[in-house]
Amino acid sequence: MTRPLVANIDIAAMQHNLSVVRSTVPRAKIWGVVKANAYGHGLERSVRALNDADGFALIEMESAIHLREIGWKKPILLLEGFFYAHELPILARYNIAFAVHCDEQIDMLEKSRLDLPVDVHLKMNTGMNRLGFLPAEYSKAYERLKKIPNVREISHMTHFANSEVSGHKKMSVEEQLKRFDSGSAGLPGVRNLSNSGAILLHPQLRTDWVRPGVMLYGGTPGGKTAEEYGLKPVMTLSSEIIQIQNINEGDSVGYGSIFTATGPMKIGVVACGYADGYPRMAPEGTHVIVDGVKTRLVGRVSMDMITVDLTPVKDAHVGSKVTLWGNELPIDEVAEAAGTVGYELMCALSLRPRIVEC
Ligand code: PLP
Repeated sequence: MTRPLVANIDIAAMQHNLSVVRSTVPRAKIWGVVKANAYGHGLERSVRALNDADGFALIEMESAIHLREIGWKKPILLLEGFFYAHELPILARYNIAFAVHCDEQIDMLEKSRLDLPVDVHLKMNTGMNRLGFLPAEYSKAYERLKKIPNVREISHMTHFANSEVSGHKKMSVEEQLKRFDSGSAGLPGVRNLSNSGAILLHPQLRTDWVRPGVMLYGGTPGGKTAEEYGLKPVMTLSSEIIQIQNINEGDSVGYGSIFTATGPMKIGVVACGYADGYPRMAPEGTHVIVDGVKTRLVGRVSMDMITVDLTPVKDAHVGSKVTLWGNELPIDEVAEAAGTVGYELMCALSLRPRIVEC
């Protein structure tokens, strides 16, 4: 028996979204960000779809090696770099570039005695206070790297905290750029700066490479909706009604009995729950589409099922199609209702839904 839960991955939509990146920042080269199994969309299929990207950036070294093994010849970048000295010869052998963000990594590189060259992206902490050297420490780190035999190319990298906002009060792109320019002044090397928010809201920014992630998958980094940015949804999660319950005033639904009917109504039980990646925190009222009609979640999300109000849906039946997000219902809208972001819903898709490319 096949459970009717399907995640459709729209390859043409992914390619369209890549073309939005190209036309927005035509002079920049593109790292397609494919970490976390390509934000839940499947690494191999996404890499195939995004074949026109100039390189791929990710976190997981095993996945980076896998990309080489399946024949990807263009650049690959590890965004968090490496963690242990024994990884360095492997990265060199597979020609995988990596970020360098702390002195401990440079210590390991100095001791490594690599017999093949490596390319590094020196990361500056310009205000996010996660990874990177402070602007005042940056040129010293650069000089240390330069002296290491077999460190071939050194690029300059930072990450923006609020790129989806213009003029953020606490840490704006402008402020981060100012710090970046001062910390890297006079140092040769290409600049690798913009994520989706910076591409869409700050396309004029001087960057040789950009690092789009969520926009490739048709999600918004914030600011406007994905549709307003001209992006197309890639993942559509859909299922079916597997039973209908006719309930009466005073009857409650699901775990915790948190929803109580105020009159007779039909409840549709849908084969999709939090073990599939549907957010457990989605509250009553979160939208779902049943046979093309927008309706709402009622009751608590359980591991394998959700329950929905069929009042507005004429002729709903077992087998009626239910869209949880994607086409007709932006993933970001569902995420917002659940108090999270589209990024998390994409990445949290579990192994249970059947994946269908279209
Ligand atoms: N660059 C780095 C260093 C990241 O960590 C990420 C994602 O978190 C990205 C680029 C892509 O960001 P986005 O998905 O917002 O485009």
